Amino acid sequence: MLRTNTCGELNLDHVGQTVTLCGWIQKIRKLGGMTFIDLRDRYGITQLAINSETHEEFAKKVEKMGREWVIKVTGTVTERYSKNKNIPTGDIEIIVDAIDVLNESAIPPFTIEDESDGGEELRLKYRYLDLRRNPVKNNLIFRHKMGIEIRNYLNNIGFLDIETPFLIRSTPEGARDFIVPSRVSPGEFYALPQSPQTFKQLLMVSGYDRYFQIVRCFRDEDLRADRQPEFTQIDCEMSFIEQEDILNTFEGLMQHVFKKVKNIDIDPIQRITYADAMRLYGSDKPDLRFGMEFVELNDVMQHKDFKIFNEAELVVGVMAKGCAHYTRKQLDALTDFVRRPQIGAAGLVYVLCQPDGTFKSSVDKFYDQEDLKKVAQKAGAEAGDLILILSGKTEKTQKQLCELRLEMGKQLGLRQAGVYKLLWVVDFPLLEWDDETNRFYAKHHMFTAPKPEHEALLDTNPIAVNANAYDLVINGTEVGGGSIRIHNRNLQNKMFQILGFSQEQADYQFGFMLSAFQYGCPPHGGIAFGFDRLCSVLSDTDSIRDFIAFPKNNSARDTMVNAPAAVENSQLDELSIQIKK
Ligand code: ASP
Repeated sequence: MLRTNTCGELNLDHVGQTVTLCGWIQKIRKLGGMTFIDLRDRYGITQLAINSETHEEFAKKVEKMGREWVIKVTGTVTERYSKNKNIPTGDIEIIVDAIDVLNESAIPPFTIEDESDGGEELRLKYRYLDLRRNPVKNNLIFRHKMGIEIRNYLNNIGFLDIETPFLIRSTPEGARDFIVPSRVSPGEFYALPQSPQTFKQLLMVSGYDRYFQIVRCFRDEDLRADRQPEFTQIDCEMSFIEQEDILNTFEGLMQHVFKKVKNIDIDPIQRITYADAMRLYGSDKPDLRFGMEFVELNDVMQHKDFKIFNEAELVVGVMAKGCAHYTRKQLDALTDFVRRPQIGAAGLVYVLCQPDGTFKSSVDKFYDQEDLKKVAQKAGAEAGDLILILSGKTEKTQKQLCELRLEMGKQLGLRQAGVYKLLWVVDFPLLEWDDETNRFYAKHHMFTAPKPEHEALLDTNPIAVNANAYDLVINGTEVGGGSIRIHNRNLQNKMFQILGFSQEQADYQFGFMLSAFQYGCPPHGGIAFGFDRLCSVLSDTDSIRDFIAFPKNNSARDTMVNAPAAVENSQLDELSIQIKK
């Protein structure tokens, strides 16, 4: 080794020792006759001290050096005169006896500090420099710890880590595939997997009854905020289990990870059905760090003279505790919030439950004090509280009120960092109907099994069929999802039919699955967690990019290596591909 120690470990216990350190120059300071260097490596920063009078030669050498030069120094660990309590090595410094330059550095395009002066695009272009910064480095260390603990837990209960291929065949459902042209088979293409779904199921057919993989997945979707074209899943599958077993096994995983990585004992994970989640929070991934459940107000607010409510499918409100003091300006701001095009409500009705027991509302023209009292009672509001009400088509209104609830939660400081509310959402519908294409789509994916007691409904009322499908939600973010799978060939065939596949299409696309189902497929099910997402949620940030060493930007571009990029014509010829000009 070129070094005896790292820059993060020396303290008063080491005083008097001769050590050799290697690292990058963070800073050079001159103070009277002394030159100080902050030397940085992955482990921390150690101060080097050079007496310019006794070691003029070293001081001269240092004058030529600059930020991010890589050096090797040997010296004696010495107690510092003025200590820095903020870093573990702050009590000592190294009195330098020898100094070598291992490599020079150009001036970096931004400062390698916790708060850098570089903008995001610049830092992505020079990601290898950004990765030297503590906040980014700490995220990668956090991710590493998460990965280790996930493996430990799954390994301890008999899961096998098995790799599945990246070059697979394109499938028609789900997100858009990234496709890879084949040179050997001109005109044919592989696809990169959106998830190892079919392979993990085939592993169950093969008898590997507990599989996992921390695996890259690829989806060519239009990039919404905080999506990456390649991301990592903790992908799991089990045989001879029921939904309950999956929920318990992976509740255990969450308990283990929270304990080991964050030293938090999480509460038993609550469960809610999809239908209740939509009814009470207008979302299949509610943030349960706060209550503010929806209250349906149709019976108390319809059949008066307020036409908008009378014509609405749903009149629904939330109660904001202690917010009756909201000013006209604040209420107008909330109205503007729900009217933003992203939310799209026509307006917002409010009822202020005033401290003196009277009510004031934006619809006083149509509702008297008695009416408003009924509304307040229904909403569980008391004097001093505020009720916010939206109306319209059920699903749309629920979504809009969901946004308003989250906004109120934010304004009232109820979405606290460091508090984690985990939730299983269960009983998802099996199918959803799309008016545009006039057909059913699988809500989760087409291998998800209907609840056995709903199977008969597949023929009569498919939209009413629920699935043994579940999502894990933490603080309003979906971090994982899975289902019990179909393991019967006929049922799988029927599912393909419902999804609009002809038998030929089903055989062409999924013949291998249907064939495998003939050879003793065990009952099985599984789940996949978004690993990047789980890291970001446990770190109280919104950004998965922060937990990926080399992420893409918002245009799915890696600006560091400049990908995607054009290729040589000869490469295209080999692949029998012609680019349309
Ligand atoms: N393959 C599914 C997904 O990526 C997860 C699962 O069902 O296990 O969403």
